[in-house]
Amino acid sequence: MPSQTTLLPNVSGRSFTILKYVNKVPSFASCSKCQQKFFTPPSHRFVPSGASDYLKEKFLWHKCVASGIEETKKAKSGGVNF
Ligand SMILES: [Zn+2]
Repeated sequence: MPSQTTLLPNVSGRSFTILKYVNKVPSFASCSKCQQKFFTPPSHRFVPSGASDYLKEKFLWHKCVASGIEETKKAKSGGVNF
């Protein structure tokens, strides 16, 4: 699977957000749909592009385990994010 693109495919409505940078290296990221977190391993912490690619790859391959939860929250709050 190619992982060199800067734009990620928007698979089934989920998107990828980098939540924290440490020394300009992505430290951890999450899936906006299921809130799953992806952490950069120590071996990638000094390589910004490597860390970014690692997190993207983790994101692309994960399964949204709790995809129903966010919809429930949205329904309760009545908000629409778009
Ligand atoms: Zn997800």
